[in-house]
Amino acid sequence: MKAAEGTPAHLAEIRARITQAAQDCDRSVVDITLVCVSKTFPAADIIPVLEAGERVFAENKVQEAMEKWPELKRLYPDVELHLIGPLQTNKAREAVEFFDVIETVDRPKIAAALAKEIARCGRHPKLYVQVNTGAEPQKAGVLPQEADAFIASCRKDHGLEISGLMCIPPFNEQASPHFALLSEIAKRNNIATLSMGMSADFELAIQQGATHVRVGTAIFGKR
Ligand SMILES: *Cc1c(COP(=O)(O)O)cnc(C)c1O
Repeated sequence: MKAAEGTPAHLAEIRARITQAAQDCDRSVVDITLVCVSKTFPAADIIPVLEAGERVFAENKVQEAMEKWPELKRLYPDVELHLIGPLQTNKAREAVEFFDVIETVDRPKIAAALAKEIARCGRHPKLYVQVNTGAEPQKAGVLPQEADAFIASCRKDHGLEISGLMCIPPFNEQASPHFALLSEIAKRNNIATLSMGMSADFELAIQQGATHVRVGTAIFGKR
């Protein structure tokens, strides 16, 4: 990927690092999607990144996304918007109506709510299951040992298509075992999409099979 004229410096660097990481492990760079995490940043900071050609963005709050993105989506209609923050059942309708990918499916109640809203409004956002690979009590996501059963239940009981898995490794721990665990769970459940790796570790995630890396700080700066 060649940096367009006027590409924000951080973005050009991230693209180059993704290309290098893919080359280093004999993967094709087209199989890796940069998800630009724009949470907390205003439209004025997002527009240069859109202008530079990025089209895949993520927000962690339904409300914030619905305030910021309608106007941006009008200007850049081919944007793909991901939800990467915890989802409450009372926001399921808005999430289905507004997002293209929901990365945080993690419990039966939310699966049921999403199934209902998908049937109601006929929009089919892609759905990823979030796995709490570090089994951290405060963190969202299904526990690793419960992931297979939950994915099966999403598919069988709720008729949901689960196309990806997402994880956020524990802060201050080696990320590698967590990426490996997510990849194993994906393989045995026939899931092709792996959303893993953030600003600090996206190259490692690419080495371990990430198809989507979620990068915020390294593009937009400190929140
Ligand atoms: C904020 C966030 C990111 C981006 O993290 P950075 O370290 O800023 O790159 C990625 N994934 C999730 C789920 C997030 O909430």
